[in-house]
Amino acid sequence: MVTGGAGYIGSHVALELLLSGYDVMILDNLSTGHRDTVDNIEIIKGGCEQVGDLHFVAGDTGDRKQLTKVMRDNPIRAIVHLAAFSQVGESMLKPGKYFENNVARAINILECMVQGHVEYIVFSSTAAVYGEPRAIPITEGHPTQPTNVYGASKLMVEELLRWYEQVHGIRHVALRYFNAAGADRSGLIGERHEPETHLIPLVIQKVMGQRPGLTVFGSDYPTPDGTCVRDYIHVSDLAQAHILALEALFKGMDSRIYNLGNGNGYTVKEVIDTVGQVTGQEVGYEIGARRAGDPALLVASSEKIQAELGWKPHFPALHEIVASAWKWHNLSGRK
Ligand code: UDP
Repeated sequence: MVTGGAGYIGSHVALELLLSGYDVMILDNLSTGHRDTVDNIEIIKGGCEQVGDLHFVAGDTGDRKQLTKVMRDNPIRAIVHLAAFSQVGESMLKPGKYFENNVARAINILECMVQGHVEYIVFSSTAAVYGEPRAIPITEGHPTQPTNVYGASKLMVEELLRWYEQVHGIRHVALRYFNAAGADRSGLIGERHEPETHLIPLVIQKVMGQRPGLTVFGSDYPTPDGTCVRDYIHVSDLAQAHILALEALFKGMDSRIYNLGNGNGYTVKEVIDTVGQVTGQEVGYEIGARRAGDPALLVASSEKIQAELGWKPHFPALHEIVASAWKWHNLSGRK
C-alpha cells in the first residue's frame, strides 16, 4: 500500500513498484494528490508487460476505521508511507496542521499495521531533519536539528518508527530525500503542486509564460555564485530506492535510515541556466531577498544506500532531470 500515491513522489513510487511486478494499492485523500495521476499510472503500465495490478482507494490516513478495514480486506505486505504535507513555509505558519497530518496520522498507520500484522514500512523522510549543515556532504550520522516544523514532523515519525520496531517488531527504512525533481520518462506523471513552490517547475512555468516573474532568493550566500546550492535527484531514481529498501526488508534486513541525493550540488543560477539550455530560451529573473530558513548548501552523501542496497542514480545529470520535467510540463499542457 502506497499512501500518498496520487502525489508527485508517491505516483513515481507506485509506478516503479508496478513495473517491478508488485500489486499496488494507492491510498490517497486527494487533498494535494490528483485522481488523474492514478489514471495516468494505469495508462503507463498498460504499455508494459509483467506488471502488477493497481487499485485506488480514496482514503484518509486520519480515518483509522477505514485504514483498519482496508488492511483487513486486502493482503497488504508492506506500507510505503508518503502521505504528508510538505511545504516548509506553510509548516512555520501552521505547525498544528503539520504535526496532526504528518505525525498523528503516522501513528494511525503504525497502529493499524500492528493490528493487521503488517511488518514492513518504508517511510518518506527528508533532508530537512538535519537543519543547518555542519559538514558537507551530509551523511546519515550528521546531527538532526531541524530548523522548521516540516523537518521536525518527519524526524518525530522516524522516532516513532524506532519505538514501533522495539515494541512491535515492525521493521522500517526511512529515506531522507534531498531535492526531488524531474518526471517519469513517459511524461505522463510529474511534479504538480498547487501552489507550486519548487525551483525547477517554477523556472519552467516562467519559460512557458505561465507566471510573470521569477525571483532568486538571495545572491549573497557563501557559494560559488552567491546563490543556494542544492542536491537535485531524479524522482525515478528516488522511486527505485523504495523498491530496493522494501526488498531488503523482505529479505530480513534490519531497520535503516538512508540519504537519497546525487551527491552533486547545483546553485540556483545553474538550475536556471540549465532550464535555459534545455528549453532553448532565455530565462528572465530578478534577485530577491533570502528565504527564511534556507541553508546555503545542502548536498547529500548517498554512499550508504549505494554500498548497502546497491542503489545507483540512473539520471544524475541536471540537464536530464530538467529535460524530463520539461517534457512533462509540455505534455501535461496545463496553463
Ligand atoms: N528558490 C528560489 N526561487 C524560487 C524558489 C526556490 O531562488 O522561486 C531557491 C530556494 O531558495 C532554494 C532552491 O531554490 O535555495 C531550491 O528550493 P526548493 O523550494 O525547490 O526546494 P528546497 O531546497 O526548499 O527543498
